[in-house]
Amino acid sequence: MKKYNFNAGPSILPEEVIKQTAEAVLDFQGEGLSILEISHRAKYFQPVVDEAEALMKELLGVPEGYRVIFLGGGASLQFCMVPFNLMGKKAAYLNTGVWSKKALKEAKGLAPVFGAEAIELAASTNSIPMDFEVPQDCDYIHITTNNTIYGTEISERKLQEIYRKKGNVRLVADMSSDILSRPVDVSKYDIIYGGAQKNIAPAGVTFVIIKEECLGHVDRYIPTMLDYRTHIDGGSMFNTPPVLPIYTALLNMRWLKEHGGIKFIDERNQKKADLLYNCIDNSKLFTATIQDKEDRSRMNICFVLKPGYEDLFDEFFKFATSKGMVGIKGHRLVGGFRASCYNAMDVEGVQALVDCIKEFEAMH
Ligand SMILES: *Cc1c(COP(=O)(O)O)cnc(C)c1O
Repeated sequence: MKKYNFNAGPSILPEEVIKQTAEAVLDFQGEGLSILEISHRAKYFQPVVDEAEALMKELLGVPEGYRVIFLGGGASLQFCMVPFNLMGKKAAYLNTGVWSKKALKEAKGLAPVFGAEAIELAASTNSIPMDFEVPQDCDYIHITTNNTIYGTEISERKLQEIYRKKGNVRLVADMSSDILSRPVDVSKYDIIYGGAQKNIAPAGVTFVIIKEECLGHVDRYIPTMLDYRTHIDGGSMFNTPPVLPIYTALLNMRWLKEHGGIKFIDERNQKKADLLYNCIDNSKLFTATIQDKEDRSRMNICFVLKPGYEDLFDEFFKFATSKGMVGIKGHRLVGGFRASCYNAMDVEGVQALVDCIKEFEAMH
């Protein structure tokens, strides 16, 4: 039976990309060696990193003065790398869910060590709050563009408002779960980072897009591995990088480019989200957890059974599983269901879930 992978992360990848990765595991580019056993210093691996950096820049339209690096440690390590590299006297965090809260926790923990202060601008888990001002004495403001667990996402309109509010303050964004899913004006950011396992690659690699000019303004010892400079100067090869996930990231970005790049995927993601939210909004059994349409995530679509129907949870879960749906159980903090519709999920996959919901409704 065909499986429809709605896992939140690690998550779905295009079938061709998985096949090409499997080929490289057996024989990397006809070298007679597996990608699992080659040196990252081998002459044929440097071009992989170079092309991955170039493709990410091309797909997102990254301007001059920025570098793209690939690291280990996950997005979670960035929660402390950002303050280590950028925090002078004050940093501000928009708290929109579990991941931004974790980023704020690291900033709050490090602030006293650095003689600085970390503040929360506003907090909400079921909407994107905009009732805040950005103190102009901040070194940076940190946002999470898509909240993987609660299923909110900062709309383009709200992003524009944040760009206005921030004035000259640097902007840092965790884009783990919506990178490459929509256009982004990279010039407005100093650092964009994310774990690649949601929309780009298998687990193990973290991307960081960084404006070189923002570095070098703090006066402290930065542990070598936590210093962005180290990895920029080392071309992502200061120490052994996650070779396999970087290669899959490259294959996936080639896939995206061949299919029409960000414009293509942005339109397809919109179509998918409209399809599923429409179904849920018109459902007699289910309702979306995020009511304000503007704040709804296109990547992580969360819905619950309506009051009075909650006891159908197990039955629907079993039914959906029998139809090939995988990974639709909601996060334990939210309950209900979550269908993650990352780039590699096609419209037919979302249509299959919609059909499944409708068929279940017809039975009740
Ligand atoms: C998954 C996720 C993270 C954590 O990523 P790791 O690579 O596991 O550390 C951080 N932020 C967001 C928005 C995420 O979705």
